Amino acid sequence: MEQRIKGTTGLMALIGSPVGHSGSPAMYNFSFRYHNLDYAYMAFDIKEDQVPAALDAIRLFKMRGANVTMPCKNEVAKHMDELSPAARIIGAVNTIVNEDGKLVGHITDGIGFVRNLKEHGVDVKGKKMVVLGAGGAATAIQVQCALDGAESISIFNPKDPFFARAESTAEKLSKETPDCKVSVFDLADEAKLKEEVANADILVNATLAGMKPHEELTLIKDKSMFRPDLVVADVVYNPAETRMVKEAKEAGCKLAIGGKGMLLWQGAAAYKLYTGLEMPTAEYQKFQE
Ligand code: NAD
Repeated sequence: MEQRIKGTTGLMALIGSPVGHSGSPAMYNFSFRYHNLDYAYMAFDIKEDQVPAALDAIRLFKMRGANVTMPCKNEVAKHMDELSPAARIIGAVNTIVNEDGKLVGHITDGIGFVRNLKEHGVDVKGKKMVVLGAGGAATAIQVQCALDGAESISIFNPKDPFFARAESTAEKLSKETPDCKVSVFDLADEAKLKEEVANADILVNATLAGMKPHEELTLIKDKSMFRPDLVVADVVYNPAETRMVKEAKEAGCKLAIGGKGMLLWQGAAAYKLYTGLEMPTAEYQKFQE
C-alpha cells in the first residue's frame, strides 16, 4: 500500500448506499495494480440527496470516474453533462467518466448482457427476443439489445407497477430504434407467451423470479417451450444456476446461462471506459481462489 499510493495517485470510487458489502474496490484495485495504473478505488456511502455534492467532489478531485449503485442511478443521470444513448433512453447511470471536467454518464448492464452472449457465440443482431421483466435489469437489456440491432423484443411482465415501465420503454424505443419491433404483453397470458417464445431466438428472464429466497420460482412453467435451438439467459446470479436455466439445459437448449457473466462483463465494460483496457477478470478470479 505504501508503495502503491503516491502523491500522483488518482482516485476512483463507487457511490451509492449501502456500499459496505461491495466487491468493486477489491476488483478494481487488483486490476489497477495488474495494469500498473496509478489509481486507487474506494467506496463511499452516498444517498440520493448527496449526489450533487458527490459529483462536485468528482470534479474537484479530478477523479477519472465513479461507479454508481442504488439508490443514486437515476439522480446521477439528471446531473450529467452528457449521456450515452442507453443512459439517456433509460434515464439511469452506473458509470461516470470524467472527460477533462465533462462528466459523461453510461449504463453498462445491457452492454454486459450483450457481451456475455457474444462470449458464448451469440450475437443479438437480427434476433427475435422475449424478455421477461420491466425493472432495472430488464430495461437495460431491452434498450441495449434494441440499440445493438435486435429484430424484435417481446416484453412480458405481470400487471404490477413495473408494467407501465415496459409500455414506456416500448414507446421510447419505437422512436429511438424504429427497426426493432417492441411489444408488451401481460405475463398472465400464457398462450401468448408460448407463441412468442416459439417464434423467438433468445429467451431472457430479467425478473426476480428464481433469485434467493425464491429459488423454486420459474416463469416458464410449460417446459415444452424449451427447444434445442432456443438460447436461454437469466440475469439472476444468486443462485448461479436458476431453476429456469437448469430446466432449459435438461430440455437440451443449445445455450442456457445464468447472470454471473453479465455481472462480470458489465464491470469490465466500465473498466474499459475508464482505462481503455480489458479488465483482467480471469486473473482476478484466479487470485481469489
Ligand atoms: P427490479 O426490482 O428493478 O425489477 C423487478 C422485476 O421483477 C419487475 O419486472 C417485476 O415485475 C418482476 N417480478 C418481481 N417479482 C415477480 C414475480 N413473482 N413474478 C414475475 N415477475 C416478478 O429488479 P432488478 O434490479 O431489475 O433485478 C432483477 C434481477 O436481476 C435480480 O435478481 C438482480 O439480482 C438481477 N440483476 C442482475 C444483474 C447482472 O449483472 N447479472 C444486473 C442487475 C440485476
